[in-house]
Amino acid sequence: MYDYIIVGAGSAGCVLANRLSEDPSVRVLLLEAGGPDSNRQIHIPVAFSKLFQTGCDWAYYTEAESQLQDRKLYWPRGKVLGGSSSINAMIYIRGNARDYDGWSDLGNAGWSYADVLPYFKKSQNQERGPSEYHGAGGPLNVADLRCVNPLTQAFVEAAVEAGFARNPDFNGATQEGFGVYQVTQRNGQRCSAADAFLRPAMHRPNLKVLTGVHASGILFSNKRAVAVSFHQGEGSRQERAEREIIVCAGAIGSPQLLLLSGVGPVSQLRQFSIPLVLDLPGVGANLQDHPSVGLIYQCREPVSLLNAEKLPSTLRYLCFKNGPLTSNVGEGGGFVKISSKSPVPEIQFHFGPGYFKNHGLETINDHAYSFGPTLIHPHSRGTITLRSSNPLDSPRICANYFSDPHDLDVMVEGIKVSREIGKAPALAKYRERELFPGEDVQTADGFRNYAKTVTETLYHPVGTCKMGKDSRAVVDSELRVHGLDGLRVVDASIMPTVPGGNTNAPTIMVAEKAADLIRRGPAPIKQEEKILAAR
Ligand SMILES: Cc1cc2nc3c(=O)[nH]c(=O)nc-3n(C[C@H](O)[C@H](O)[C@H](O)COP(=O)(O)OP(=O)(O)OC[C@H]3O[C@@H](n4cnc5c(N)ncnc54)[C@H](O)[C@@H]3O)c2cc1C
Repeated sequence: MYDYIIVGAGSAGCVLANRLSEDPSVRVLLLEAGGPDSNRQIHIPVAFSKLFQTGCDWAYYTEAESQLQDRKLYWPRGKVLGGSSSINAMIYIRGNARDYDGWSDLGNAGWSYADVLPYFKKSQNQERGPSEYHGAGGPLNVADLRCVNPLTQAFVEAAVEAGFARNPDFNGATQEGFGVYQVTQRNGQRCSAADAFLRPAMHRPNLKVLTGVHASGILFSNKRAVAVSFHQGEGSRQERAEREIIVCAGAIGSPQLLLLSGVGPVSQLRQFSIPLVLDLPGVGANLQDHPSVGLIYQCREPVSLLNAEKLPSTLRYLCFKNGPLTSNVGEGGGFVKISSKSPVPEIQFHFGPGYFKNHGLETINDHAYSFGPTLIHPHSRGTITLRSSNPLDSPRICANYFSDPHDLDVMVEGIKVSREIGKAPALAKYRERELFPGEDVQTADGFRNYAKTVTETLYHPVGTCKMGKDSRAVVDSELRVHGLDGLRVVDASIMPTVPGGNTNAPTIMVAEKAADLIRRGPAPIKQEEKILAAR
């Protein structure tokens, strides 16, 4: 018997395992479907795409995306201690202050920017030192890149030449402008949520971590979550939680687990003959993600990350933990407002000093650099639904990219801005020619077609168990599942809208805040939950 069972040792689950087990009087069980994070390539920053489609990756695919020429898009997600933070690109970005004020305006008390800033700071060890916006002494190390490629520096200069501001801190007073990203690294190595939060807590006698266990359902007694069932090797087991079960299985895994457990839209549960526990129509709805389009330039100088695995840079890494192997690939970027009326930037840029196509799965023996304009406030919404009642089957992912025409319009503008920056003088000495889409593509229609052909995920799915008060909300502002007792969801799936930026730091912030909410003790069942339960 444990007090808390946490399902999923990803960005959020590792934070909770640490914070809850700080109290020696509580017993915590952490369940993770993947294995330990012993693969060396997890820890060498530049190598993250080598983890794709390995045992560390759920390697999901979307259904055929109707606006993207019916392509089925590859969605990597971490299946290992640290979850997606063990295979991600390490960019440390929080999003825009207005994103969180927006969450609060939707009725989620306690989630405005002023409310969440202390949690961002609490989790953080900012190597530049503490400030109004940054914390020092926290578990998650936030560092400047040790080795910035000359192409990335030229990209930032080119953006300034094109008329954009320089921004040395996207997580400070203003988000707009261009610069080099800070990264979650320590001493030139990845600092995943497992490194930052789990490893320092693993020795605690009150925390038990099980890897290679696939949670298959939550068991209820009178609308109270009491146990988790899981597959382990060939067999299956259950463990009981005295206080709470906390689902941290991510934006795909969390709605899938709720649905398998009988919590979700009644019609879907009936279709798969899953006994109904609670009709919650919003489970798996409201899927939001950041689509991204790659523009690739052939580079005249032999300076790109093609050199990263050569002997001199390997020796530099082994001896000094420096050099191109410390690159996170997406080294530089920026935030741009497309419409002068928009209160927040709508496009985020990622710049990589390499040939980044098809998630880096294709290796091209040529020096190149790539731009990735990314739509960060999409209007389109997708879904996660069950494919079957077998917990080991992956669910159906319908991202529905560009189903709202606004999204493709903004993306086309993002491609045009990339072109402007790509032509600026600072990049001239490196630019041989534009490989993709190529100079022959010049019209808005050409850019639209190109976007449909090459758009991929920027890996930020959220929102599928959203927090809120409306009929599609799954959790309340304390992240308790509406209408049920002893059950919370804490991960990227609770975000009502996707933040305007990369989603690892926001997920860690969510878990830091949830830990405080949980440690306050079991809250009484609220009136609104009783009403929902009765529905
Ligand atoms: C390739 C890639 C690059 C990215 N780059 C960046 C970046 O540079 N910066 C950034 O901020 N964000 C980035 N992200 C996004 C960021 O990493 C995620 O938003 C964040 O890690 C999500 O955290 P989570 O806790 O919600 O889910 P996850 O970290 O995915 O954790 C979910 C965990 O639950 C486990 N799990 C799932 N189902 C079950 C089950 N049934 N039983 C047991 N365990 C289960 C999973 O194995 C996983 O460990 C990237 C993501 C990817 C995949």
